[in-house]
This record gives sequence, C-alpha cells and structure tokens, in this order.
Amino acid sequence: MNIIVCIKQVPGTNKVKMNKETNTIIREGIESIINPFDTFAIEEALKLKDQFGGKVSTLSMGIPKTSEILKETLALGVDNGFLLSDRSFAGADSLATAYTLSMGIRKIQNYDLIICGKQATDGDTAQVGPSLAEKLGIPHIAYVTKIKKIEKDLIYCERLTANGYETIESSLPALITIVEDINCPRLPSINNLKKSLESSITVWSSDDINSNEKLTGLNGSPTQVVKTFVPEYNVQNTMLTGTPEEQSESLVEHLISLGFSLDI
Ligand SMILES: Cc1cc2nc3c(=O)[nH]c(=O)nc-3n(C[C@H](O)[C@H](O)[C@H](O)COP(=O)(O)OP(=O)(O)OC[C@H]3O[C@@H](n4cnc5c(N)ncnc54)[C@H](O)[C@@H]3O)c2cc1C
Repeated sequence: MNIIVCIKQVPGTNKVKMNKETNTIIREGIESIINPFDTFAIEEALKLKDQFGGKVSTLSMGIPKTSEILKETLALGVDNGFLLSDRSFAGADSLATAYTLSMGIRKIQNYDLIICGKQATDGDTAQVGPSLAEKLGIPHIAYVTKIKKIEKDLIYCERLTANGYETIESSLPALITIVEDINCPRLPSINNLKKSLESSITVWSSDDINSNEKLTGLNGSPTQVVKTFVPEYNVQNTMLTGTPEEQSESLVEHLISLGFSLDI
C-alpha cells in the first residue's frame, strides 16, 4: 500500500507577527515545526505500512527550509520526502495550495491513500485536504477518528460529526484527513535517524511538476487578505462577594447591565 502524507511547516509558536503591508506571516527568526496535526497523519501512514507493507512518502509545499521537516519524517521511517518549492508558489491560498500539491502528487504517481491533518495550526482553514481530493478527482473522508478496515480496494473509516460518529466506506485511492487523538506518534529510531542523515529530499520546481503559473501562488489565489488585526481585549474582572443568593443577584444585574435578556 503506497501512502502520501501531506505535511505543512508552521510556526512553532502562537506569538506570530504579521507583515502589515503584505498581510502575510513574518516567518524570519521563528522556529518552524511540522504542523502538529500532521504528525498523527504520519503515524497513521506508518502503522498502515507496518500492517500492509508498501511505501510512505511525505509531501510539502514551502520554502527551501521546509526540507528540514521532511528530513525529520525520514527519521520516523518514512521512505521518501518531496518538497515543492518555487517562487511562483508563494502567497498561495488554500485553492492554489491544493492545486500545487495535486500536481506534485500526479508526478509522484502510484498511490493508494493520501493522508492530511485535519487542519494547519497557522492557516486553520481545514480546506486543503478536501480541495486536494477534488483536484485529484478522488473521494475523501474528513475528520477520521479511526481506520476500521482496508480490504479489496475499499477503506472503512469512522469519522467525527457534529453529533457523534459515523462510519464511511470509500473506494481507494482516496484521501482522508485525520483528527489528533487517532494515535500516539512514534519517536525516531536510531536506525532510521542514521538512514535519514544519508538520504536527501527531492525538490521540485514549477517546471518539474508542470504546474500552470496562473493557478499557483498569488496568481492562483482568489482569496485576498484585505486586513489582519488582533482583536482587542476589553475584559474587566469583577469578583462577586456575599452569600450565594447575593452573588447570583449581582451576576443577574451585571448581565442585564451588559444588555443580556433573561426572558426564557
Ligand atoms: C491571499 C493569501 C495570501 C497568503 N499568503 C501566504 C504567504 O505568503 N505565506 C504563507 O505561508 N501563507 C500564506 N497564506 C496562507 C495559505 O493560504 C495557507 O497557509 C495555505 O493555503 C494552507 O491553508 P491552511 O493553512 O488553512 O491549511 P489547512 O487546510 O488547515 O490544512 C489541512 C491539511 O492540509 C495539508 N497542507 C496544508 N498546507 C500544506 C502545504 N503547504 N504543504 C503540504 N500540505 C499542506 C496538511 O496535511 C494540513 O494538515 C495566504 C493566504 C491567502 C488567502
């Protein structure tokens, strides 16, 4: 079973600063890590490889430094790492990101399953996985909590819904996006760590994946960030005192003073 895991490099902090002119994240000087949700996607792929054999590849679109996180995945037991990196990919929204990744996957070929994290901790849209499946013309299952069975080109997954769980059957090849508590990611082994030091990451440019420059980066991004801002906090803490009855009376008065209606 051949599996491709899409991983994104994200800032390793929630104290990111924005470039006010370009409305993009200032990435210089910030430690970058694998999107935490993608570590569960890698683990799930490695577990399937342990069970069924085959190869696991990781794929990322990003700046040249992104090859470092791809290398980290080799130390976990991933077979190949692919980086899509080109100036024309910069400023991509989720649609352009999905298109670029789809072109990389078409070049890798020969896959049974694509696994994405449920969302990235910086962009947070959770759109790339489903959009990527659409671009590749394959089915997808989002918010997978458990891969129940894989049998005869079919995959059965339990997924999280607004009201609980449901089980979905899909033909393969398919794409799944997975939630964080599906597994417990492994640590690198000494053997894989040694192997990773001797291996290299395949880096592909726009020409290599034959992408249309009108569909990548800012050119291919219909979403425009008009303004970014940090919401202002205006919270005044009030300590309630007195008996429980007095405290609830003051709470009700306070809520009414804030404009809440207590009609039931
Ligand atoms: C107009 C505009 C300009 C932007 N400019 C920039 C910019 O200059 N620099 C910048 O960093 N961001 C930029 N962004 C943010 C960018 O759109 C998102 O980071 C990107 O589209 C991915 O969306 P997301 O982070 O919401 O991923 P989600 O959809 O939340 O991610 C879901 C999953 O998709 C996969 N995935 C997502 N992104 C990648 C990737 N790059 N490689 C591999 N797998 C991936 C992962 O498995 C991830 O868990 C811009 C956005 C807009 C709208």
